[in-house]
Amino acid sequence: MMTQRKLTDSELAANVRQRNRVNSERRRQRLAIAGKVQLLTWIPDTLRRELDSVAAARREPVSETAAAAIAAGLRQIPTTPISAYHCLRCGSRMTVEREREPLCDSCEAATAQMATTTTPALKRQSPAA
Ligand SMILES: [Zn+2]
Repeated sequence: MMTQRKLTDSELAANVRQRNRVNSERRRQRLAIAGKVQLLTWIPDTLRRELDSVAAARREPVSETAAAAIAAGLRQIPTTPISAYHCLRCGSRMTVEREREPLCDSCEAATAQMATTTTPALKRQSPAA
C-alpha cells in the first residue's frame, strides 16, 4: 500500500486553484452549450439591489431574474435612437433631435411658460439647478 505524504500548504492551495479552474471551465461550457452568454454591464446600484431583491423573492438565480426582466423590459422601451446627452436642468435623457440643446422638451416648455409670466430682468437669470 502506498503511503501518502502530507501536502504542503502551497501544494494544497495549488490543487484547490486547479480544481476551481476546472469547475469554472466546465460550468462555462455547460452554460454555453445551453445557449447562454455572459453579460457585463454597468447599471445603477439601486437597480442592482432591486434585481437581487426580486431574485431572492422568486428564489431563483439572479441570471434568470435578469433575463426575464430584460426580456420584458425590451418589449416596453422604444427602439428610436436616444442621445447620450442629458438635460442640464432635470437630468433626463435628451432626444436625438434636441441633443445639442441645453434643456429637454418639458424644461424648455416650462422656461417658455415662465418667460411669459416674469419680468424681462428675471429672464436673464440662469435657471435653477
Ligand atoms: Zn429637463
